[in-house]
Order: sequence, then structure tokens, then C-alpha cells
Amino acid sequence: MFGQFIIFTILIAAVCAGTVRNFTTFETAQACKAESCVLPNCRCLSTEIPNGLDVNSIPQLVLLTFDDAVNTVNFKYYEEAFFNRKNPDGCSIGATYYISHEYTDYSKVQELHARGHEIALHSISHETMTTYWDDLSLDGYKDEFGGERTLIAKFADIPEEDIKGLRVPFLQLPGDTSFQAIKDLGLKYDSSWPTLRYQDPPLFPYTLDYLSNQDCPVGKCPTVSLPGVWVQPMVDWTGSDGNVCAMVDSCATPDNAPELLELMKSNFQRHYTSNKAPFGFYIHAAWFDKNPVNFEAYKQFLDYLGTLNDVYIVTVQRGIEWVQNPTTTKDLKNLWPSCPNTYEPTCEATVCTLNKGEEVRYMTQCSDCPDVYPWLGNPLGIL
Ligand SMILES: [Zn+2]
Repeated sequence: MFGQFIIFTILIAAVCAGTVRNFTTFETAQACKAESCVLPNCRCLSTEIPNGLDVNSIPQLVLLTFDDAVNTVNFKYYEEAFFNRKNPDGCSIGATYYISHEYTDYSKVQELHARGHEIALHSISHETMTTYWDDLSLDGYKDEFGGERTLIAKFADIPEEDIKGLRVPFLQLPGDTSFQAIKDLGLKYDSSWPTLRYQDPPLFPYTLDYLSNQDCPVGKCPTVSLPGVWVQPMVDWTGSDGNVCAMVDSCATPDNAPELLELMKSNFQRHYTSNKAPFGFYIHAAWFDKNPVNFEAYKQFLDYLGTLNDVYIVTVQRGIEWVQNPTTTKDLKNLWPSCPNTYEPTCEATVCTLNKGEEVRYMTQCSDCPDVYPWLGNPLGIL
């Protein structure tokens, strides 16, 4: 009955809008039934190791992510920290970048992609009014994230289908709409959702076929069923003052490298010595600008991880692939027979001088300059 009501409401809304857009109907999510929710495309929320594998046999996956614009200033950190670093299988490590449009240098986005890193979405506008994200419609979410996918594919000249995930600015979950946008846009996962309830033992990625009882410390939780949409939960860290954070750079951290390194290790141990759920280290590169100690400790932490032969630093996409097809460390080569795809960058970068309202934006990109500054509703910037 309720489902019919939703369908009816959506139909009326589409007719009232004057245009019939592509839309999916969404049913209210029910409690998860393990027998009807099986890998690789469905998983109930759980802190159990997928397929009951032995904790000593599985790899510890580590997810390094960065939010906001990629530019020449923060690119130098990625270059220094990542480009010569390898996993135990000899492949380069992978990080994930949730990119917002303004001030992004798209030639650098291509270079990250060419090195096998993951490019993901963090909206076009990155609107700072958090109520904007609460109130934004489904079409608004699709314009923000689908539009940005179009924009990145064009101006960084990378395949649109390689872009599969999103993070809502300020982790401001709106309930259902951002997740519905993932489904409608054919994306695969969200990584905007913090959890303290499932900090210890930590939570594995899961799908939204069924109702999630994950806590929602910021914003509202989804309540509709979204088959095949994955959540890469942002398991909280505990800062030096005992308070928790989803983005590590919003935690209280020591201002000297040795103590900061210890804080990183102690948060890592909560995963590594329990169920080995993927360990997320989520920051903005601006944290490195804030205090050089932060970058020092970060590199030392990666050095430490490099001494552990069951630790793999991978993109969020690969982390979810592992949960879908869980394998032992020894059998990882069956899951990933080859290293992440890499290539020589092809971008012939040009700087376009464009107007955003009264202001000028210099957009470095790999295609022809757009007519106008790309923005919501006009991601290709066509006049
Ligand atoms: Zn952001």
C-alpha cells in the first residue's frame, strides 16, 4: 500500500514538473534476511568477515581518501607519498579522490587516474550551506553528482564508467535522495556515512537492499531499499582527546610526529587485531598544509604499513570488490590477476579563463575550453 503511494506520488510529481524524466520507484526497506541477501551483490550490515573466512588468512585493506579540489599544490603531496609505494604483490598502492569542481586542475586528475588511483565524486557546487544538502531534491543530487561525472570525464578525459562512488559534502546525508541518485546514475557506492556504533569491532561495507541500522551522527539515514548500492562506512577514529571523528583531520591530534604516528597506529590496530574490516584514513590534503608534522607522520604510517605483508592499500572500489568476492591473502591474485590499470597521461593541458558570475576562474583541463564556466545544469559549459 505504502509502496503504491510512493509510486503514485512520484508519478504526480513527474507530471507536475511538466516533463517525464527517467525515474525509479523506491520501496521501503525491510529487515535484512541473510538467506536472501548473498554476495556478490547483496550483503547485510555486519561486522562478520565475509563468507566466514579466517581472520588470520585475509588481507587488511587500507583506504586512503582525499576530498575537494585536486590541484598542483596538493598533487605534490600525492606524488611524494604514493607514487613509489607498492603493495606486497608488487602493484602500486591506490588512493581515492572525492573531487569537487571549483579550482580543480583536470590535468592532475587525469594523472592520478593514469597511475591507477580512483577518481570519485564530491559534487559540482560543494555548497557550504549544509541545509542545501538536506533539502536538495533527487534531480538536484543527480545534477550535482551526475553532472560532475560528465564534467570530469570530459575535461580530465577519462572514461565515465571508471567513476563509481560519491561522498556528500560535509557528510550531510539527506536520508534517501543521495542514495537514490547513486542508483539512478548507475554509480556503485556511497562513502559519506560515519559510524560510532560499529567502531569496535568495525563495520564492513554492505548493501542497502535491506534496512540499515547504522547510526547517523550527521544528517539522516536512508529508509528505502536500494538493491546493489554499497555503503563504504566511515568508521570513526578516536582522537587524542578521546572524542571521535569520521574525517581524521577533524579529530584532535598531537602536534608532534611520534605521538601522531602512535595515534594512527592505535586506530589501525582496532581493525587489524579484530576483524580486519577495511581501515579508512579519510582526510583533506589541506591537513598537510596546516602542520608539516601531519605529512611527516602520514608518510611514516605508510612506511609502517609497508612492513606488514598482509596489508594492502587499495582504492575504495577495490575494497568493495574484495568484500563482494572475499579471498585469502594468498589467493588475492585470483581476485586481482593484474595490477590496477595504468597508462601514460595523454592530457595536453590548457588553461581556460572563464567567468563565474563576477569572478574569474582559471580551469586547467585536457579538452577544448568550454564556452562558459561548467556548472550545475550545464556541466560541459556550452553556450
Ligand atoms: Zn569537501
